[in-house]
This record gives sequence, C-alpha cells and structure tokens, in this order.
Amino acid sequence: MRWMNDCIGLDRYIAATAPKQAVIVGGGYIGVEMADALIRRGLEVTIVEFKGSLLTTVDPSFGILVEEELERHGVSVLTGVTIESIERSSEPLGRLIVTGSKGLRIPADMVLVAAGVEPESTLARASGISSGITGAIKVSRKMATNSTDIYAAGDCVETWHRLLGRYTYLPLGTTAHKQGRIAGENVVGNRREYMGTLGTQAVKVFDTVVARTGLNDEEAANAGFEPVTVAIETWDHKVYYPGAYRMHIRLTGDRSSKRILGAQLLSHRTVEVSKRIDIIATALYNEMEIDDLNDIDLSYTPPLSSPWDPVQLAAQEWRRASRQQNS
Ligand SMILES: Cc1cc2nc3c(=O)[nH]c(=O)nc-3n(C[C@H](O)[C@H](O)[C@H](O)COP(=O)(O)OP(=O)(O)OC[C@H]3O[C@@H](n4cnc5c(N)ncnc54)[C@H](O)[C@@H]3O)c2cc1C
Repeated sequence: MRWMNDCIGLDRYIAATAPKQAVIVGGGYIGVEMADALIRRGLEVTIVEFKGSLLTTVDPSFGILVEEELERHGVSVLTGVTIESIERSSEPLGRLIVTGSKGLRIPADMVLVAAGVEPESTLARASGISSGITGAIKVSRKMATNSTDIYAAGDCVETWHRLLGRYTYLPLGTTAHKQGRIAGENVVGNRREYMGTLGTQAVKVFDTVVARTGLNDEEAANAGFEPVTVAIETWDHKVYYPGAYRMHIRLTGDRSSKRILGAQLLSHRTVEVSKRIDIIATALYNEMEIDDLNDIDLSYTPPLSSPWDPVQLAAQEWRRASRQQNS
C-alpha cells in the first residue's frame, strides 16, 4: 500500500474477484484504515500485529480502545502474533494459508502487508548523497543534501524533530508538504529553515478518531525529560446538549520545567478530536507550559465544547498530579 495505483489496483481486484477473507499484516495506521475499508466492501478481515497492541504510535490503553472499535465492526484482531509464512494451498486450489506464532493458521483470499515504511533513497545514494537513519537522505534544516544544489524533502529524508532537537524518520504527508515548500523556496535563492516535526497525526477507524502529538511518557523519559502523564475521560461538549461523546485524553508534561511534552486523544469521529490535538500541537510548537493551556481563550458553545475545554480539564488534572508527585 504505497502508491495510489496500489489502492486503485486493490479496489479493482476486489470488484473483479470478490474475495471473502482478508488478512492484514500490521496494525499500524495504514493497516487499521484498510481494515475499515475492507469491512465496508464486505470482506471478513483479520489483522495480525506482532507487538502487544495496535497503533503503537499511541499508548497501549488507546491501542486497546482501537482494537475494541475494530472488533465492534467485525474485524478479528490478533496481537502478539508474528506472521511466519504465506503459502498458496493446493486444496482448495489457490487459496492462501497464513501461518504464524502461537499456532496461527488461517486461510485467506488476499493478504495485505502494511508492516512499516522505508525511505526509497537508492537514486540519491547511487549519486553519492549521504544517508542516515534507516537509509533516509541526510538534509540540513534548509533541506539541502551534502551535494551542492541538490535538495530533498518528504518520505525519502530524515526529519528534524522540534522537541527532540535531533533528526528522526517520521514520514507523513503533512511533513512532506512543508519540507517540499522550503526546499523549493531555497532552490530559488531563499534561506528558509524547516521548523521541525512534532509527529502530529490523526487516524479514523470506523467511528473512532485517535490522534497524537509530541512525545508519550516513554519517549519523553528516553529523551531525558522527567515526564508526568495523566489520563482523563470527559465529555467532548456539554452533556445536556445531544450528541455528546466520551473523550479520552492523555497529557504528558515535564515535571521540572512544566512544559507540555505531548498528548493523545481518542473519541467519536463526529466530535472535534483533531481540533484538540492541534491546540496542543500549537502550544507545543510555542514551547508553552501546561498551565498556559488553561489561560488560552478557547471558544465555547454547548454543542461543541464546555467553558473548560477537554484539553484544559486535562491540564488541570496534570497540575494536580504533578503537585501530588512533588509533595
Ligand atoms: C495508505 C497511506 C495512507 C497515508 N495517510 C496519511 C495521512 O492520513 N496523513 C499523513 O500526513 N500522511 C499519510 N500518509 C503518508 C503520506 O502519503 C506520505 O508521507 C507523503 O505522500 C510523502 O510525500 P512524498 O512527496 O515524499 O512522496 P510521494 O507522495 O510518495 O510522492 C513521490 C512521487 O515521486 C514519484 N517518483 C518516485 N521515484 C521517481 C523517479 N525515479 N522519477 C520520477 N518520479 C519518481 C512517485 O511516483 C510519486 O508520485 C499515508 C501513506 C499511505 C501509503
């Protein structure tokens, strides 16, 4: 599932051959989005993920909520299982047999592999351009490579992480667009710098949207911060107004500097999950403290929010938790 033609080809294949059972290898965001798409096309779908939970870009407690959402819509989810082989059976002729750890053996009419992404930097490396993390092209913040007049951007490059202050590999469309614009401006003589990713992303799985920005507790600790993480569950808007949904928020901040480090949000797809994650991404970009979240003049009307927006309630909970931990 890399190019648009892969998707079009898959859709045509399903229309032409009417497969009944599909196995998806990999429970990352592409795997879970594809499960949603295949169920809508009438297939029986099994996702096999070798880690202990789905969507490992978010914490396992959110991965489990995503798993429950998939199962509510008929997807079978197997976690902690490693695929070992995919073979074509002779009886019945042509069906695939997928085997894996824990005795997995399931038949399938199609297997979709969505098990990670690697940069395609062969051409650059053959031209003497330096590469680094997972083979991605090394670029400066101006998106220049080590080769004079050659700039690079998008999935093929290492990406500057604003919070970590170092390069990482984080291929996303939102990042590719910003880097591409900067590379283009610099090619024609400007001196713009890429300001860095925060890894902000959102994904819809059936009726659930899950989003993240910044670092989770473990990533923050690994990066040398002193993370304090709180988890709250609240309503997305005033509950007396119809259509309110539970919203789960995990907010991470640094104990000593009180700076925001990251957040994860999950709720129903019809409520404003991405607005909330983008509030926190904006605060993160501006190196704000958790308390600042409380002071921002956010909008309020009962069908959409509360006088204290859910992100502000999370900030208040964080303040309580960090006070308790400090006392
Ligand atoms: C299924 C899927 C879902 C995704 N969903 C999201 C999402 O919701 N949000 C998000 O932020 N990101 C998402 N992404 C990631 C996003 O699509 C990529 O990060 C982004 O497209 C990268 O842009 P790019 O320009 O670097 O590469 P691409 O978009 O891959 O474009 C590269 C282009 O270069 C062409 N090309 C390659 N080699 C050559 C060559 N030698 N000569 C000439 N042309 C060449 C290719 O044909 C292609 O058109 C998704 C990716 C996938 C696969």
